[in-house]
Amino acid sequence: MTDIDILSLEFSEVKAAVEAMGEKPFRAKQIYSWLHEKRAESFDEMSDLPKALRERLAETYSFSRIVPKRVLKSEKDGTVKILYGLSDGNHIETVLMSYEHGDSLCVSTQAGCKMGCKFCASTIAGFKRNLEPNEILGQLYETERVTSRKVSSIVLMGIGEPLDNFDNVIKFLRILSSPEGTNMSLRHVSLSTCGLVDRIYDLMEMDLGLTLSISLHSPYDEKRSELMPINNRYHIDDLMKACRDYFEKTGRRISFEYALIEGENDSREDAKALVELIKGMPAHINVIPVNKIAERSYRSDRAAAAAFCRLLGSLGANATVRRTLGSDINAACGQLRREYEGALNE
Ligand code: SAH
Repeated sequence: MTDIDILSLEFSEVKAAVEAMGEKPFRAKQIYSWLHEKRAESFDEMSDLPKALRERLAETYSFSRIVPKRVLKSEKDGTVKILYGLSDGNHIETVLMSYEHGDSLCVSTQAGCKMGCKFCASTIAGFKRNLEPNEILGQLYETERVTSRKVSSIVLMGIGEPLDNFDNVIKFLRILSSPEGTNMSLRHVSLSTCGLVDRIYDLMEMDLGLTLSISLHSPYDEKRSELMPINNRYHIDDLMKACRDYFEKTGRRISFEYALIEGENDSREDAKALVELIKGMPAHINVIPVNKIAERSYRSDRAAAAAFCRLLGSLGANATVRRTLGSDINAACGQLRREYEGALNE
């Protein structure tokens, strides 16, 4: 058996593989439907495939599952947060959130993160490894199975920097949107990045139709570099140019994330500079009261976020405060994993 997981294959790859095995091309459609529509959990379940082919597939590909280790349900708003164990002992988090327009799933793209943003729990213990396409997709399939709910949109905003795991994330998106499989339109997908400018250009070239979210958090280079070390590599001017180019090329409005932190990025000057920065660009600002994490003293609250948001509005920007979901289940990104792995290491 190879290390390649059958769930990480695009439809064209399954087709080429079955043809190389001397099988008729229609077998590829059957296999893809078992994997992505019927959500089979083993090759044995694929009852309309000849036994010899099932055996051949099992010899050639692995078929692993991510395993829910803890499932936390909010009593307040239906948010479900799941800690998943990966086959090599790493852990990731996935959050299912309920909105008026349907359920949205926040998926992780890496185990840990290299980016070092000061306010973020996911990066404190550093980077472990990239997730494979099957492990990103598995978060959707397992969460739908565990919760018996149907996900209608996906945000790549969990643990990790999606553009730092570019090839696997693109492969995941291709499999997710494949007409022979789950067939989710990428209009229902948002990708959030701390601003890897070169990769934003690569993404733009692919014109996938997804929404780009930029984690901005300060309009000033000095402060942004302090909060987000990636800003030392890609400065705000370059990032904003990439955003303008992204809009020109794709016609998709950009979304900016702004985690409000008391005394760090919440002044009137910050608001004015932020509005100035995005002037003339069809954009939306998401103001988020920073989530407290155990290791840092950063803080904010909803009232401050609402006031900052009103200020942005009065200056002509399009801004809303992100709803706080799952406040009773420690839903802030990366904290459950830290708790769990910390407990294991004690
Ligand atoms: N690496 C990507 C996606 C994962 S982080 C990115 O940087 O965009 C998802 C979002 O949560 C980002 O906007 C990130 O800045 C934000 N975030 C991380 N820790 C946070 C915290 N403690 N409070 C509020 N937002 C936080």
